[in-house]
Amino acid sequence: MPRILDSLPQLYQGLLPDFLHQDVPEETKATCSNCAMCKENAQGAVDSVDGVNRFFRPDTKCCTYSPRLPNFLVGALLSDERPELAEGRRRMEEKIASRVGVTPQWVKPPAKFQFLYKNGHQFFGRAASLRCPYFAMDSGGCTIWPYREAVCSTFFCKYVAGADGRKFWMSLKTYLTLVEIQLSRWTALQLLPDYVLSGKDRAETQPAPLGVEDLDDTAPPAKAYAELWKEHAGREADYYRACYRLVRELPADGLEKLLGLDGTIELKTLEKLHDTAVLPRLPRTLKFNPDATVQWMQDGSVALGAYSDYDAIALPGEAYGLLVEFTGREPVEKVRQHLRDAKQADLSEEVLVELYRHRILVEA
Ligand code: SF4
Ligand code: SF4
Repeated sequence: MPRILDSLPQLYQGLLPDFLHQDVPEETKATCSNCAMCKENAQGAVDSVDGVNRFFRPDTKCCTYSPRLPNFLVGALLSDERPELAEGRRRMEEKIASRVGVTPQWVKPPAKFQFLYKNGHQFFGRAASLRCPYFAMDSGGCTIWPYREAVCSTFFCKYVAGADGRKFWMSLKTYLTLVEIQLSRWTALQLLPDYVLSGKDRAETQPAPLGVEDLDDTAPPAKAYAELWKEHAGREADYYRACYRLVRELPADGLEKLLGLDGTIELKTLEKLHDTAVLPRLPRTLKFNPDATVQWMQDGSVALGAYSDYDAIALPGEAYGLLVEFTGREPVEKVRQHLRDAKQADLSEEVLVELYRHRILVEA
């Protein structure tokens, strides 16, 4: 089993708390190099529900997203001279030279991208216009993979622990986002104090209306950019590398102080969700989820989905017929006994756990 830390940037190895050294089940259902959401690899999968196509484009996969990279991860990428990252570095340098979304705290997507992402409908995995600028079209991979941020590090289209796995990874995303915010503020405070002291590090509650530069994807006015970057204007790459060096030198207890009470709470939540994802417990009573989607397949099996549009599990048609017996009125063991006595059939504990994790059966 891999450790939680194994899917995160190397920089975090000695920095994040011991808990992140724990094992976590490998997400084998998200077969990224042969993308499980692309039609040619999704054998027997449901291709549409309610007329909505579920497959992803092979030339986007789930990378219809653009990351918000914290200053220290940008610096780590630019400081990594391995040849396999040359294309990622080149794209990052190009992005920095464009000045679009380039700030002392982040290298982030253009405001127009964020607007389209927020307002798009059923585009995820399907809109070429929202393909990530770091996506490698030839290999279908990521040119900045070792330095991807919280969202990219924790997203899977399917989870071996179903809904419990998704909750765990989403909670890890929340924790890592806090880490990114606090570390990027802390580095900015040391290298460009005015950025933080004038409140530019505070998240916008309401995104500003899109201006001409935003709509045309052009650099902000030169004066505003120079005021933002001060003595680092024109030397942004050096600034980002300095941010990386600061974080590299930070001890683990230094990060703990920066994360404060919020960090403690997020970590405890993460620990709790890790337990549930790793050691599933079947509730005493279960009922068939009335919101589950049901699709009969040509081979007579049934694809059932509930917790996610991207994950369905297949059951033989006869087994599906047994699910209606789970009404939540009797304990699971009693329902199984009834199935054995009246129908000479059973659903094993293993199958029931799978159905519960996918929320096809839910706690009554
Ligand atoms: S996580 Fe993304 S790339 Fe990996 S299998 Fe799922 S959709 Fe494909
Ligand atoms: S940074 Fe990499 S993993 Fe994240 S969306 Fe872009 S290409 Fe995909």
